Amino acid sequence: MELDYYEILEITQSADKDTIKKAYRKMALKYHPDRNQGDKEAEDKFKLVNEAYEVLSNDEKRAIYDRYGKDGLKGGGFGNTSGFGGFEDLGDIFSSFFGDGFGRSSRRKKTSDEKFASDLIVNLRLSFKEAIFGCKKNIDFVYKNSCKTCQGTGSKDGKLQTCPKCKGSGQVGISQGFITFAQTCPECKGSGESIREKCSDCKGKGYEEIKDQVEISIPEGVDSGMNLRVNSKGNISKNGSRGDLYVKIIVDEDRTFIRDENDIYIEYPVFFTQAILGQSVKVPTIRGEAVLNLPKGAKDGQRFVLEKEGVKDVHSSYIGNQIVQISIKFPNSLNDEQKELLEKLSESFGIKDGMHQEQKGFFEKIADWFKS
Ligand SMILES: [Zn+2]
Ligand SMILES: [Zn+2]
Repeated sequence: MELDYYEILEITQSADKDTIKKAYRKMALKYHPDRNQGDKEAEDKFKLVNEAYEVLSNDEKRAIYDRYGKDGLKGGGFGNTSGFGGFEDLGDIFSSFFGDGFGRSSRRKKTSDEKFASDLIVNLRLSFKEAIFGCKKNIDFVYKNSCKTCQGTGSKDGKLQTCPKCKGSGQVGISQGFITFAQTCPECKGSGESIREKCSDCKGKGYEEIKDQVEISIPEGVDSGMNLRVNSKGNISKNGSRGDLYVKIIVDEDRTFIRDENDIYIEYPVFFTQAILGQSVKVPTIRGEAVLNLPKGAKDGQRFVLEKEGVKDVHSSYIGNQIVQISIKFPNSLNDEQKELLEKLSESFGIKDGMHQEQKGFFEKIADWFKS
């Protein structure tokens, strides 16, 4: 039997946000691939835990899930939980909790004698349109290059000595009254090693910072939170190998269109006569315009789907839909002619003595009230 998202996180349906967060933290750590090398079951469980958290931590998705279950989430464009690069995204949720270097591949993890991670992340802001249709962008960034003079140590002779302040333990005792607290050594910042004399080339940092620029093609359909990897444009380690550059996408909102994954939503005004008559109306879309054929008597707030008028999926040829929610508008004022026409119309619907047939029905229904 399939477990539901609450069962996966071992919480109750009434759990608050904090509880969900804590449960996720616990379960994600337990099943993290780094801790369960080659364990397929743990890997599957880790994916499920992330999937459960993605839904339950989002009020809107949680409400849909509570009412309609997983199937409900498939409908409104919520179906694709894997995002860009699949598993890579799960790493992202994870690292936002635990910091970089744990959630990702071991490449980003810095080795103990390296002063920086080899992979680099830069944010890139895109307009709503740029994200939907793709574009080319020049990205300015600064990468670190391990100092050759000092072998990345920051020390003039290339050697590190045992930190004299903490004697290599990385911690020092601070006394407050009768109590002594252990604290990270301020001299070596906990590494236990220190520099006798700073390297003059890198001023003791162990690396130099270099400005760089790269032109990248943003594919059609990217969305906020996705990462694009640019091969070998990251930091250069001591051994000369260069890490990757990750470009994290941030997309601006639009004033007219609302995007939910590959679907586009728009609230569109429809004049009451158009709705009553079921006319065809022109609707703006992200690519121009489309025709919406209203049914006779379309209702305020009713939603219509314009197929394939949404965003092209970043991984496939699938194109999302545009969902048009109509809001029916009435005239604020009437001229004499319009007034006359509407009065005639009103009469033709059988409105007499201030009453319509449907209203009469109500009086008949409650007739018993007045008989005692
Ligand atoms: Zn120290
Ligand atoms: Zn140096």
